[in-house]
Amino acid sequence: MSIYIFGHTTPDSDSIVGAISLSYLKNQLGEDTTPTRQGELNPETKFILNRFGFKAPELKTTYAGERVYLIDFMERSQSPKDIDEATILGIIDHHKLGDLTTDSPLEMWVRPVGCSNTIVKQMFDYYGVEIPKDLAGIMMCAILSDTVIFKSPTCTKEDTKACKELAQIAGVEDYKALGMEMFTVKSNVLNATKEELVLRDFKDFNMGGAKVGVGQLEVVDLTVFDNMKDELFSAMQKVKDEGERDTVLLLLTDIIKEGSQLLVVSDSISKIERAFNINLDRNEAWLPKVMSRKKQIIPFLEKQF
Ligand code: MG
Ligand code: MG
Ligand code: MG
Repeated sequence: MSIYIFGHTTPDSDSIVGAISLSYLKNQLGEDTTPTRQGELNPETKFILNRFGFKAPELKTTYAGERVYLIDFMERSQSPKDIDEATILGIIDHHKLGDLTTDSPLEMWVRPVGCSNTIVKQMFDYYGVEIPKDLAGIMMCAILSDTVIFKSPTCTKEDTKACKELAQIAGVEDYKALGMEMFTVKSNVLNATKEELVLRDFKDFNMGGAKVGVGQLEVVDLTVFDNMKDELFSAMQKVKDEGERDTVLLLLTDIIKEGSQLLVVSDSISKIERAFNINLDRNEAWLPKVMSRKKQIIPFLEKQF
């Protein structure tokens, strides 16, 4: 039976491309694996797959009795509901140590780099497996996406090195221009409902018993959100109520100005204010230089909760 490889719920480009790239590598190494996804593709990921001629991995949300590799996550809150009934063969990730456990030994490639596909690139190099041109293209795009074209504080020298090598294999000379094209696609927020926007790149965390959901929208110009703030707040309130969350945050990240507008709907307002040393004005605050949920948001929230 085929082994399934998938990324987190509400998958981003790294999760989708990582499933495809890791599956290709594993198959070259003699395992029988299939890439899958836990949710719908976002517009950026669709653009990337189209650009290099890939189909979306198959949608699959239950894994009881299956053998699996996880890529780009290791949190229970971002896993399929029946993850405990699956056998986790391995985890390839670049996040903090999560709360999943296993009952047998597993393969782990976890490194503090900016993108899971940087780690997959290093695995290709480690095993001496050649990366096909088009696969290199989508892996390069995943790195550009996760590192916000190298601007995110999560970006390391290993990410830029991997990205440049992949660009060369893919035959893409101006990879930063392609990155900007990706983020322009990502900035189109007009033909989605406000709830879709809140959930487009959304992660739940269990913080000391409190369920905290954090969404992020990375755009090239924050004025696209003018006139839709009230509706975004209503959508956040709905997501908070329906998911019985303590807190829902939405980061509107301006990748050119390099900072984020934080929107807050929370039962723990004072904890949020303390976490970032801010005073919320109508449940909003500008966080200069903040681009990374993983590095600049989650650790400070965890301390307060
Ligand atoms: Mg991800
Ligand atoms: Mg990632
Ligand atoms: Mg991201």
